[in-house]
Amino acid sequence: MRVTEGGVDLEVPGESTEGIEESVFYNPRQELNRDLTIATLRAYRGREPRAETYLDAMAASGIRGIRAARDGWAVTCCDRDDDAVSLARENCERNDCEAEIRHADANVVMHEGFYDVIDLDPYGTPMPFADAAIANCRDLLCVTATDTAPLCGAHFNSGIRSYSAVARTTDYHTEMGVRILLSALARAGARHDVGVTPLLTHAESHYVRTYLELEHKPTAADAAIEELGHLYHCEDCLYREADPGLIANPLETCPNCGGTRTLTAGPVWLGHTCDREFVADVRGRIPEGFGTAKEGRELLETLEGELEEPTHYDQHRLCKEWGLSANAMDDFLTDLREAGYEASRAHYGGTTFKTDAEVGEILEATKEGMQP
Ligand SMILES: [Zn+2]
Repeated sequence: MRVTEGGVDLEVPGESTEGIEESVFYNPRQELNRDLTIATLRAYRGREPRAETYLDAMAASGIRGIRAARDGWAVTCCDRDDDAVSLARENCERNDCEAEIRHADANVVMHEGFYDVIDLDPYGTPMPFADAAIANCRDLLCVTATDTAPLCGAHFNSGIRSYSAVARTTDYHTEMGVRILLSALARAGARHDVGVTPLLTHAESHYVRTYLELEHKPTAADAAIEELGHLYHCEDCLYREADPGLIANPLETCPNCGGTRTLTAGPVWLGHTCDREFVADVRGRIPEGFGTAKEGRELLETLEGELEEPTHYDQHRLCKEWGLSANAMDDFLTDLREAGYEASRAHYGGTTFKTDAEVGEILEATKEGMQP
C-alpha cells in the first residue's frame, strides 16, 4: 500500500490504513508525532547550527529518517529487523534519499559512532537504549515511550523494572508517565555525566514524546538530578504536593481532608518539561502542508501557555468528587484567576488545567460558579 506523508511517498505492508494501527512498520496515529519531529529538528538547527547528523535508531519503514534527510540532515536509519531494513531501503530509493541504512541492533550502532541527534522510537519502553543513546548523542535526544501502562502506574511492577521508579495511578496519569520517563532519562544521563534539559515534551493516552538537550558535563548532570523529587497524593480528596529531593518524606495524613489513603510516587521529574521560547519557535516552523498542521499548532500553543506545575487537575474529575456540575472551562479558570491564583489549560485533555491553588482552594474559588 502507498502512503504519502510530509511529501514522502511510502510503501508500507498491508492493503489499507485500516487496521494497521498496530503495524510495527508504519503507524498512521503517529503522524502528529513525526510532523512535530521535523518542525523540532528545524527549530533545533536554528539553535545549534553545527548539528547535522541524525540517527533514526528504530527506522521501521524509514519514514522519519527519510523526512529528516529531505530537510538536509545526514541521516542513518537503523533497524534490526530484516523486513524493516528492506522496506526502509526500498522507501529511500523511491524518494531518492541518501540515508545510510544499517541492519543492526540500535545499541551496537550507537556505540560505534557519535550522532548530533538520536531518535529513539521503540515499541514499548525506550530504557534499554537510553544509556547507549545518551553516551553517544552530542546534542539532542528525541525519545518516544509507548508503554503508558507501566509509566502511569497501571502496571506497577513493570514500571518499577523499566524505570527504577514508583509510578502511582492518579487522576493525572498521563503526566505521571511524562515525569517518570523524564526522571529515568535524567538518571540515565547522570550515569554518563550528562545533564538533560527538556525542550519539548507532549503526551497522549498512548505515548509520551520528549526532546532533551544534552550537556556533557558533571555539573549539568547534578543540576538535572536536582530536578527530581516525589509526589504525595491523597486518593480521597485528590490533594497532592511535590517534594524536591531524592529522599521521600511521605504524608501520613492528608493536610486537606485528614484521610490516610495517601500515595507516594517517585522519583519523578519535577522540573520544566518544555522551554516555552523553543516551543513557540517549533510552532512557527510547521508548514501548512503538514497533515497535522492545525492539530500540531494548537497543541504547541497549549504547551506554551501551560503553567509549570508538576501535576494537572481534571475539572470533570473534581466536580464528580465534589458532587457539582461542571461549568465552562473558561469561566472556571476565570474564577480561579479572580480569586488570585494562576490557572492555565493543560494539553492532557479538554477539561485538564494547571493551577498553583491547592484542591481545597480550587473548590472555594470555583464552587459558586457551578450548579449542585
Ligand atoms: Zn485528602
